[in-house]
Amino acid sequence: MADIHLDAVTKIFGKQVRAVDRVELTIADQEFMVLLGPSGCGKTTLMRMIAGLEYPDGGRIRIGGRDVTDLPPRKRPIAMVFQSYAVFPHLTVADNISFGLRMRHTPKADIRRRVEEVAGLVQLGPYLERFPAQLSGGQRQRVAVARAVVMEPDVLLMDEPLSNLDALLRLTFRAELKRLVAELKTTTIYVTHDQVEALSLGDRIAVMREGRIIQVDAPMAVYDRPVNEFVGGFIGNPPMNYLRGRIERDGGTARVMIGEHALPVPPEARPDTAGDVLVGIRAEHVTASDRAVAGAIEARTEVVEPLGPQLLVTALVGDQRIKLLTHPDFAIQPDQPIWLQPDPGKLRWFDTGTREAIVPSV
Ligand code: ATP
Repeated sequence: MADIHLDAVTKIFGKQVRAVDRVELTIADQEFMVLLGPSGCGKTTLMRMIAGLEYPDGGRIRIGGRDVTDLPPRKRPIAMVFQSYAVFPHLTVADNISFGLRMRHTPKADIRRRVEEVAGLVQLGPYLERFPAQLSGGQRQRVAVARAVVMEPDVLLMDEPLSNLDALLRLTFRAELKRLVAELKTTTIYVTHDQVEALSLGDRIAVMREGRIIQVDAPMAVYDRPVNEFVGGFIGNPPMNYLRGRIERDGGTARVMIGEHALPVPPEARPDTAGDVLVGIRAEHVTASDRAVAGAIEARTEVVEPLGPQLLVTALVGDQRIKLLTHPDFAIQPDQPIWLQPDPGKLRWFDTGTREAIVPSV
């Protein structure tokens, strides 16, 4: 069992910088947890504390039920993969992968068997006798992953392992990594600022901001129900749309006014408040028409961007901007009237002051 418990973990640099601030997080055995957040939010510092490369100023860290807070890295059941591959240039792929095992004085026959097994897993079998300089960036990163995995750690820590790879390679390697971790069933923590990576890889995502974890949930739950304006804007491309609106109630019914346009709000999506709100809606949850539709919001197109599988349209609702994704064949030009129908069940509400989500109570 290699579950991980972080209890009020804190790291303060100098006197001012609370890089990690009282973080509480439980990661289940075999779970793939992604730490996601913008640059400087404390992800790497938190991971380094789990690895033992940094010691917390407060709080405790437990791995597999054991308190490891004060243990040095080599006494923790972890292996780490960094952004810079950090492979030894003067060693062959095989010797790079086996380095840790040799340090542990593992018998030679075992080393050979495990290196071959892991090289197969990361598809490096044909390259074992090459030197890192004779490999592509993606292959070098696979060596780094293999070197960590071969140690059979209870916990695998990865800090932006794909960020030095080009776009196409990232895409391929991401899927490979997902398959690999699923096969290994090792508890994994993965740091990234790339929301697509987080959505694609994680069993759960912990979204961080300014040293704190602000939401922990399954990827699509974070995407669909962000706890505040920041999360909805950080996750998703394009980010969630936010429009100023006003909830009006009349007996058993409710509607939201966006400018002069009224949209009915179904009971399951109804917030307990009335008055001004920030209305959140994802670009793919707005249906667009180039002809007038009863009850739809009339807007004007501003920019039309073909993305291949979809068309990204930016439109103005009064003075408010909204982005929507349509079928790529939708024949629309800039500066045309367009009628928009947000899916009422997908409307999300945020407090205009705190920017926190207002969750319907049903
Ligand atoms: P990035 O994605 O850019 O790597 P991050 O989310 O991993 O960012 P951290 O590297 O954990 O962020 O840094 C968190 C905060 O702590 C930042 O404000 C950073 O400047 C500060 N910090 C990190 N390491 C140190 C250090 N050794 N000394 C002083 N401040 C530090």
